[in-house]
Amino acid sequence: MADPETQLELRQISRSFDRRRVVDELSLTLNAGEVTCLLGPSGCGKSTTLRIAAGVDQQDAGAVYVAGGCVSDATHHLPPEKRGIGLMFQDFALFPHLDVAQNVGFGLTGDKNVKAARVRRMLERVGMQKFASAYPHQLSGGEQQRVALARALAPSPKVLLMDEPFSGLDNRLRDAVRDSTLDMLREEGTAVLLVTHEPEEAMRMADQIALMRRGRIVQVGAPYNIYHAPVDRKAAEFFSDVN
Ligand code: ADP
Ligand code: MG
Repeated sequence: MADPETQLELRQISRSFDRRRVVDELSLTLNAGEVTCLLGPSGCGKSTTLRIAAGVDQQDAGAVYVAGGCVSDATHHLPPEKRGIGLMFQDFALFPHLDVAQNVGFGLTGDKNVKAARVRRMLERVGMQKFASAYPHQLSGGEQQRVALARALAPSPKVLLMDEPFSGLDNRLRDAVRDSTLDMLREEGTAVLLVTHEPEEAMRMADQIALMRRGRIVQVGAPYNIYHAPVDRKAAEFFSDVN
């Protein structure tokens, strides 16, 4: 872990359920300011990998490092809130009983005025300042997504983990939300691990694609390289619908 650019490192992670190995000695590194898409077909182990990185699940073997520090290995395991990471998972939706500002401020600690200023700033950045006192059910899917992004980034995490974050949005909205999300991530300089089963999404969002199959990463590279030089026939077929 000598490289200061490395914000997240998964080192030889394995995880089995009912003696079936769904993540198989997987290694991956994320650099500051880069979006890495973990891309692969449904059931290949993407969400399990992300949950292990987050600390909501625990690997059977291997270790997780955040910004050079070990957050989980055979002997110790930091809980999600102590890892310096932000999460955008479907099961981490906005709290329905809290308004937008309270949602964004939820993970913040410290001085009340400093917190309020940070919430305001994050809402401005996602263009949701007018909705500070609205409740989640009063917002559209795209608006909820922007608030969720503001909430995830409010504590300035070194790493943001996103599991199929755009899958709930209709096609019309999706491109716009993807683009504004990318802008925001670039400004914040956060290292992002984004899980998706859609090659097109990975091509659009990623600086680096990690192609996953049956618990393993079979190829890592820039979108252009993966698209034009797929590692094998299966990888080529997976990208064949992208144009
Ligand atoms: P993906 O996100 O790529 O679709 P998952 O990581 O969700 O894949 O799942 C990989 C495999 O592990 C699937 O076969 C799934 O059924 C299985 N799996 C995931 N979580 C559990 C669990 N808690 N208990 C048993 N099997 C699980
Ligand atoms: Mg999944």
